[in-house]
Amino acid sequence: MAEILAAGEALERALTLLQGGDVVAIPTETVYGLAGDATNGIGVACIFEAKGRPRFNPLIAHVADMAMAERIAVFDPLSRKLALAFWPGPLTLVLPQRPGNGIHPLVTAGLDTIALRMPRGFGGDLIAKLGRPLAAPSANSSGKISATTAQAVAADLGARIKLVVDGGATPVGLESTIVKAEDGRLRLLRPGGIAAGEIETQIGMEMLRGGGAGVEAPGMLASHYAPGAAVRLNAGTVGKDEALLAFGSQRAEGWHHAAAFLNLSETGDLREAASNLFAYMQQLDRSGAPTIAVEKVPFEGLGEAINDRLSRAAAPRDNTQPKT
Ligand code: AMP
Ligand code: MG
Repeated sequence: MAEILAAGEALERALTLLQGGDVVAIPTETVYGLAGDATNGIGVACIFEAKGRPRFNPLIAHVADMAMAERIAVFDPLSRKLALAFWPGPLTLVLPQRPGNGIHPLVTAGLDTIALRMPRGFGGDLIAKLGRPLAAPSANSSGKISATTAQAVAADLGARIKLVVDGGATPVGLESTIVKAEDGRLRLLRPGGIAAGEIETQIGMEMLRGGGAGVEAPGMLASHYAPGAAVRLNAGTVGKDEALLAFGSQRAEGWHHAAAFLNLSETGDLREAASNLFAYMQQLDRSGAPTIAVEKVPFEGLGEAINDRLSRAAAPRDNTQPKT
């Protein structure tokens, strides 16, 4: 069972776990978060595993200060104004990523934008001490409601994580409001802990609502990474000009003449495979092979989310429909 430590005495233990690529449930002003080092793919994979999420949706990256935020993302004037007005606080900004920012692609599900927030209290202190951003969705198993007390987190995830940091009941109790600047206007992607009206007063104009060009409500991202190459799943054989994305120690027939080859995990470790998934698909796509053949990945544990992502990549392309 997870250990529950009061926020006042949990900093060192939380740091040790995060530095070892593990996850920690932490209090924030919105709801409890299940945090992992956003630069460590295994740590991020552990978040999805502990939540039992059946798909890799992009997570919010949490920062300690504006300098860390600016190293990760490129701020337009409107977004910077909102950060200065509402951070630390329950506002998440979707921004273009700064290349080479060290954020693991599993955090953003391979997108070139990133959702950023600066939390108040324990989370902020922890990130400052770690010196790296934390990826953190709500600390509840997939499909359950967000937890607002340490006891609720422990009851739900206690068997799957090592530490719950107890900061009492979360003051806001709602997820963060998510917004994105688009050509000088602001779009509301998800209502949350800061009222839309408060943001509109701050910027002196109304926000755009609803889908716009590409629907980007939570879980409905239009711009999820899809490779240019065709993707062929559960490949038992490999054609001569195909690239091969392998898994485990059993090779598909003809693998040695694949145009390009990467193995998600030689030992069949699903955490390792999850952490390599986006980077390897992109790498094989860049090899120029017209097709990426993918070996069978089992459906257990993180395998469900890995298979979900692979089957989206393999689905027929229809740019008019959001990929959910
Ligand atoms: P959660 O961490 O569970 O509170 O959810 C985070 C939400 O932020 C997800 O449901 C996404 O829809 C949204 N989100 C995260 N990253 C992005 C992004 N790069 N672009 C648009 N929305 C995002
Ligand atoms: Mg949630």
